Amino acid sequence: MHGPWVDTHCHLQLDDRPTDELLARAEPHLAWLVAPGIDAESSERSVELASRYPAVVATAGLHPHDAARWEVERGRIEALIPQVCAVGETGLDYYRNLAPVQDQRRSFLDQIDLALAADLPVIVHCRDAFSDIYEILSNSPVRAILHCWTGGPRWTKRFLEIETVTFSYAGPVAFVTGDTVRMGAALVPPDRCLVETDTPYLAPPPHRQEQNEPAFVRYVGAALGDVWGISVDEVATVTANNAARVFGR
Ligand SMILES: [Zn+2]
Repeated sequence: MHGPWVDTHCHLQLDDRPTDELLARAEPHLAWLVAPGIDAESSERSVELASRYPAVVATAGLHPHDAARWEVERGRIEALIPQVCAVGETGLDYYRNLAPVQDQRRSFLDQIDLALAADLPVIVHCRDAFSDIYEILSNSPVRAILHCWTGGPRWTKRFLEIETVTFSYAGPVAFVTGDTVRMGAALVPPDRCLVETDTPYLAPPPHRQEQNEPAFVRYVGAALGDVWGISVDEVATVTANNAARVFGR
């Protein structure tokens, strides 16, 4: 890989297409990518991919949708910590509420503790849970990446006060319906931002109807360039530098 972009959230291991093909298409655009785990199995596959492909960075964690399984999954996830660059994807999802709120909070707080103990950042999924996540992160020294950040101006301003927080933008900042997300992004200094695809979900225009892939991260970056009034090359440089710093690469 030698392109300028870093895709900081790309579930390669959840994509049904051949990994070699996806990476070959991303090659001209991408320097490296992060393949977040969402449970023990996908975290183990993330570590496996990272050992096979030098451009892949591994994480280990349990998604809020599966938080009821935390006690069952945690042993396998903890065992991977020495081999990963971040803990997560964890967080809170009060939109789909697929796990009881108490389980989501327990799993999230425990994963924050794991991240702190290993001096790693935590990747945070935040859906309709702004105020609980704000309360948790503003009272913790953990370095947090707000994955697929969709906050508007009000919440973006508040989270900006937490100096350990980095905002990761995905397809929604490029959507026709993304005005609120763009109004939030306009308030964030570029050196607090990352870009991601969230492959295989949330493809940005002009590929909205397709399955997402890491090669498309540049469309997310272009949307941010429009918001900030800077060139797409500048967005690539600043977000790649931020990614190297945040993930310790
Ligand atoms: Zn994800």
